[in-house]
Parts: sequence; C-alpha cells; structure tokens
Amino acid sequence: MAIRTIIEPFRIKSIEAIRGTTREERQRLIEAAGYNLFLVPAEAILIDLLTDSGTSAMSTEQWAAMMRGDESYAGSSSFDRFRASVQGIFGFRHVIPTHQGRAAERILFTVMCKKGDVVPNNTHFDTTRANCEYAGAEALDLPIPEAKEPARVLPFKGNMDTARLAETIARVGAKRIPLVMLTVTNNSGGGQPVSMANIRAVKEICGWHGIPLYIDACRFAENAWFIKTREAGYAEKAPRAIAQEMFSLADGCTMSAKKDGLANIGGFLCTNDDALARQEKDLLILTEGFPTYGGLAGRDLEAIAVGLNEALEEEYLKYRIASTAFLGNHIASEGVPIMQPPGGHAIYLDARAFLPHIPPEQFPGVALAVELYLEGGIRSVEIGRLMFGEHATMDLVRLAIPRRVYTQSHIEYVVEVILDVWRRRGKIRGYEVTQQAPFLRHFTARLRPLAG
Ligand SMILES: *Cc1c(COP(=O)(O)O)cnc(C)c1O
Repeated sequence: MAIRTIIEPFRIKSIEAIRGTTREERQRLIEAAGYNLFLVPAEAILIDLLTDSGTSAMSTEQWAAMMRGDESYAGSSSFDRFRASVQGIFGFRHVIPTHQGRAAERILFTVMCKKGDVVPNNTHFDTTRANCEYAGAEALDLPIPEAKEPARVLPFKGNMDTARLAETIARVGAKRIPLVMLTVTNNSGGGQPVSMANIRAVKEICGWHGIPLYIDACRFAENAWFIKTREAGYAEKAPRAIAQEMFSLADGCTMSAKKDGLANIGGFLCTNDDALARQEKDLLILTEGFPTYGGLAGRDLEAIAVGLNEALEEEYLKYRIASTAFLGNHIASEGVPIMQPPGGHAIYLDARAFLPHIPPEQFPGVALAVELYLEGGIRSVEIGRLMFGEHATMDLVRLAIPRRVYTQSHIEYVVEVILDVWRRRGKIRGYEVTQQAPFLRHFTARLRPLAG
C-alpha cells in the first residue's frame, strides 16, 4: 500500500527557541498591551500567526547563495542571477527590483494612472488600494458574488466577475482604465485561488479593448498548486509550467518576495512595455535605487533568486497546502465556523458566527484573538470592526501560516487551542476601545473587556 502521510519536506538544521508563558503572565501582558496583539512583544508569543509576510524560514541553499551576494552599486552579478530566475518563471522582458511589493505598486500606479482612472481587480490588497487611490485612481473590486459568502465552498472563489468587468469597461470607457489587475491568490478574499480559465477570460476581455493585464503575483506558486489540483487538464503539469502559463497571459506583474519568494524582504515589478519600463526605472532611481539593486542588498537578490524556484517545488507545495487545509478542515469538522474552503496561506475564523452573543460594535474578532492568546500564546489578527470601522461587513480572525516555519505538531497544538476556546465560547465577553488613532487604528488602539 502506498504511504499517504504528507511530511515536512525538509529537516531542521538551525532552530529558534520559542518560549512558553503561563496563563497569568499572558493575562498580565495582554492587559498591559491594551488587549491589542500588535503591542505584545514577539518574545511573549508561542505560535505567531500574525502574518505570512517576510516570516518564511530560508533554506541552506538560500543562505549559501547569500554569501555570493555582489554588493556592487551598478551591474551586480547578483542582479543577473535574480533577473534570470524571475524571467525563467514570469517571462517578462523587464524586471525591476524593489524593497517590497508596495514599492512596485507605487511605481506602477504613478506611471500608469491619473486622476479619474479606474483600476479593476478581483480584490485589491490594502496597500494596492492605497497606492492606486494615492495616484488619483479608483480601486474597484470585482470578485465573483459567491466570494462574499464565508460558508460557500468553491474551487476558485478568488475569480474575477468577468460580466461585471465587461460592464465596467462599457460604462466608464477603456480610455479611463489604464490596467486591469488580478490578485493570485486573492489575499483579502481569504487566500482563494484564481483559475487559469478566469485569467484567460479576463485577458480576452482586456485584449478586445487594448487594456493591459497585470497580475499581483505575491502567492503565484500557491495559486499554481490549486490550478494543478483543482482545474481540469492541469493535474499532470508541473507548478512551474502552470506559473509560466499564468504569466504568459499577462502584460506585467507586481510581486512581494516576502510571500512566495520565500525571502524576508524584497519585491519586483515586471512589464513587457519598453516605454513604461524606462519611466519606471527613472522613478525607481528616485526612491529605491539603481535598477540593478532597487532598494535591496545583493544578498537579498540572491535569496529571492533561489526562493522563487523553491516555492514551486511540488513536495513543498503539497506540504504547505496540506498543512493549511489540515488546520481548517479539522476545526471546521468540530463545528468551528471558518471562511470556506481553506485558503493557501491562512485560515480565517468567522468571529461573528463563533461569538454570536457579541454584537459587531463590541469587536467579536478582537475578543476571539485575545482568547487564542490567553489560551495558548497564539497570535492572530483581527480583520473586521477594529480594522475597518463601521465599513466592516465581516469580523474575521486570520491565522496566517508562515512558510516552512511550523511543523505538524505546532499545527495540532493550534487546533487544540482553538477547540478549547470553542467549547467555552459562551463565556467570552466583548470589548470597548479606550484609546485610538484617527487612521489605521488597529495597529495602536487600546481596549478593555466589557463587564459581564
Ligand atoms: C503583501 C501583499 C502586497 C504588498 O507587499 P509588501 O511586500 O507587504 O509591500 C501586495 N499584494 C498582496 C496580495 C499582498 O499579499
């Protein structure tokens, strides 16, 4: 009989100790932090699921490549290796390194957008939306309608609504749409994938009107894996070939190497348009640096060059997606309400359904995140009323899984903690804000529990 257990496809060579705390210590720490997990020192966290961005563990091959880093200001050989690696997967003519994904976004929108323009996307990530709006354009989200139903299970819930895209182009006119974007996977929509058929359909509509298509490529490898395992005709294809096909349908991309680049910092912007590339490189020099390093050290370029290829290895992707799905499916089978189906990089708990006795104005997402910390030292992030104020349509708690960092027993521990909190959910109380900033309040707000 074939062995079915999926294992971590690596062994551990260097370890970082994580510290357990007592419940009393955690009670003291969270109170001192105003019940805001951003304000708890990382040392007092046992399992940190705040984000999957820049938190990956690097491989021996990445560390070895970093020693080769060529720190020359211009013409660095590290840039040549970085560009070759990016072009081998993404295939675009111009590769422009940046210090993070948002720097690539700022340059792209500054060059392509003007006031009054509209940029459709399946769902803009928050930095993408902010950079688009800063350039004077409207950031328009066009997810398929099912994306807004947390319990609905669909293989490609990250798809764009192509009918609404066509309607939008007819309504505002192609002249006011400088580009269309697709975010793979759809981070703000629960880490849900986009199908090849949807990318192709969006490209076709764009093609009729001469509108370029850009891919927000942060989780391109995870998206390729979902296409391989869920879309007809791709089961026998390698993730690398699937990724190449995805990008062959686009005119450029933005990328945060802190996600599927398996690096701790970095990003890039790609385009096939020579004239745009020239303007983008001019802007790059203004704020990021010379086009052969773009705000990164030579060693960072080396780490990304290796990481992009490692992210496409089948054994790695199989383990990664299985690990996230294990967490989601296990708690869901015990009745815990999650955003379905489990995404690639994170599980989202539906806090309104988890704590129906706490009204949205009493921050059910904060209450749940605080309990997960008190119960087991787990850090998650509220995505709901505290983050978005009255505009929040859902109260979610995101458990983002860093890449290659936690093992199966860590994930089993997280499952156990969530189930313990689930069993005593009726006793959890709501919160009120005692102090807040006028914008992006979730980072620094202080709260207190309401009397029971
Ligand atoms: C993280 C992210 C970005 C921004 O990248 P940074 O490296 O954090 O600046 C853009 N889009 C998506 C979908 C992301 O997940």
